[in-house]
Amino acid sequence: MNKQNSGNTKPAKFINTNLKQRTLILLKPDAVKRGITGEIIDRFEQTGLKIVGAKLIKADRGVAQKHYKKDAAWHKKVGEYNLKDCEDLDVDPMEIFGTTDPTEIGSQVNEWLFSMFDEGPVFAFVFEGPNAVKKVRTLVGSTYPDAAPPGTIRGDYGLDSAVMSMQKKRALLNLIHASGTVEEAQEEISIWFSSEELLDYRRADEDVYHY
Ligand code: ATP
Ligand code: MG
Repeated sequence: MNKQNSGNTKPAKFINTNLKQRTLILLKPDAVKRGITGEIIDRFEQTGLKIVGAKLIKADRGVAQKHYKKDAAWHKKVGEYNLKDCEDLDVDPMEIFGTTDPTEIGSQVNEWLFSMFDEGPVFAFVFEGPNAVKKVRTLVGSTYPDAAPPGTIRGDYGLDSAVMSMQKKRALLNLIHASGTVEEAQEEISIWFSSEELLDYRRADEDVYHY
């Protein structure tokens, strides 16, 4: 009998893709400057997910560009959000962006994102555990804090909106970045952490749940 698949032991593939899933969390400069990083990290730790990497880092432009290399589809989506806000507020997008092309507007917002990292250090974390990517995204809440429900971190600690960010010509301040997919997580973790910086140990929860 194949020892790996005997008894209660799960096949290795299941363990790798699920129970040991990793995700990148960045507490953005607005969270660090507001002094609420401890409270936010508490929320993730309380779920049972395990910190396997952590560091405070002042990201340079190269890292920022690798991390937020958004494509034309994202530029268009974000540009359309901002155009809609302009319409609702009766603001001329030409005054703010100098264009009405959504893709061009989104590419300007992408530049604001790179500048966000000039505002101060980020606290970077890798969390690991069952369905870590989805669990963390659910806890973080909607991109737009004004629309994020109470109970989510962006809903509880944030109030920024596309309207406010557009008027101030800066990225939306939503406290946290969290990887959106497992593939995104793998790519992003390699941007922020070397393999030596990711540490292996057991949390008590792993013994409780037997994984
Ligand atoms: P993140 O990738 O930071 O976790 P997200 O996945 O919720 O956020 P994305 O669509 O990937 O959202 O957007 C990346 C970041 O771009 C957002 O976190 C926010 O800071 C900024 N952003 C998104 N939409 C806008 C907008 N309309 N105006 C200004 N900034 C925006
Ligand atoms: Mg994202």
